[in-house]
Amino acid sequence: MRKDEGRAVGPSPPSSAPVAAAVPVALYRVLRLVVTGAATSRAEIARHSGLARSTVGQQVDHLVELGILQELESKESVRGRPPRILSISPRAGTIAVADIDTLASRVAIADLTRRVIAQDIVDIRIEAGPQAVLEAITERLKGLLTEHDRDPWRVRQVVAGVPGPVDFERGCAVRPGGMPGWDGYPVADHLRKSLGAPAVLDNDVNLMALGEADQEQAETPLLCVKIASGIGAGLVTGGGEVYRGADGAAGDIGHLRAIGGGDALCACGNLGCVGTVASQRAILRNLGIPEATDDDPFHGARVLAERITDSDPSALHALRRAATEIGEVAAMSVHMYNPRTLVLAGPLSDLRDDLLSAVRAVVYQRALPLATRKLTITTTRLGADSGLHGGIALAARDIFSRPGIARLLTDRPDES
Ligand SMILES: [Zn+2]
Repeated sequence: MRKDEGRAVGPSPPSSAPVAAAVPVALYRVLRLVVTGAATSRAEIARHSGLARSTVGQQVDHLVELGILQELESKESVRGRPPRILSISPRAGTIAVADIDTLASRVAIADLTRRVIAQDIVDIRIEAGPQAVLEAITERLKGLLTEHDRDPWRVRQVVAGVPGPVDFERGCAVRPGGMPGWDGYPVADHLRKSLGAPAVLDNDVNLMALGEADQEQAETPLLCVKIASGIGAGLVTGGGEVYRGADGAAGDIGHLRAIGGGDALCACGNLGCVGTVASQRAILRNLGIPEATDDDPFHGARVLAERITDSDPSALHALRRAATEIGEVAAMSVHMYNPRTLVLAGPLSDLRDDLLSAVRAVVYQRALPLATRKLTITTTRLGADSGLHGGIALAARDIFSRPGIARLLTDRPDES
């Protein structure tokens, strides 16, 4: 039942072949209708696709045989034969995701229906360098696969996010601040080789934005602002795509000049960057709270939350001052992008009321009415998991793209 189950029938194309050409049109249409949820039965597929019922039947049978789709009898009681419902098989493969962050990383595995199977935190700092971090992450992901009886040869896609600008095509970070050794390191290649599946690297806030935009009733364009060790933003367009910019530096708003930035020196070499004066790291520094301890990578966030809950005046003041600066750059971004939804994410977003009300006040005061008329400003719905969910959404999109389906059909692990 393991790795040879459902393996390719007939010869596999050489890896350099244009695999996209190998996907039969009818099969592609049938599978896409099920993946998008537009159809859940053979009859619905026939109706939506205009394909002959016999063609639909052949393609569905083939996809069920390959283990990509499953067909289950509906539990609804109806007269005659119970209808059979088509869905993506939960055993069709696994998605592996890592949200790499400054103080610790999060990892998760999910099935191709995007259901999270398991997740965990990997306690390693980003400054340990790419090799150590990626090895720790890979090891944990492999552990999760084993613990949850997932075939390691059926990882279909790996997605990772890092807190810095990313060259999406090359799969590496580009001059990221505070990440020694990561500049240009082939992260996607490393993950592809160690997990044996196609891998992509994205900016962490882009993934968070995708995760938030993927939630029911989330309205796009959606701008997600992450406030953590630094400040960054990710934009999902009205068409559901991440806007990455020409060089992957879109949304790097942490280096916009803060109104009250003064001469605070930023790691980038400039003075008064908003990430230096209004990030969680900056607030903790002002209050003399260590960001992390040896036993607890989230020590700073916890202590700050406690102080805010206890209405500690200096903590409240520091938070509101930061929120005002964040509001200023949020207002600028709202003018630039005119989003329908602005999501505040990162550990500070747990301090919902204080952060949100201060940011809202500045945005509504600074931005023009046309840009804010239908704007919703809110905190993350997924909390610390938004990056993981965005990674899973991005992976599922790749897996069910035309080249992704071609790979699914040949069911070969990436061997290079
Ligand atoms: Zn800067």
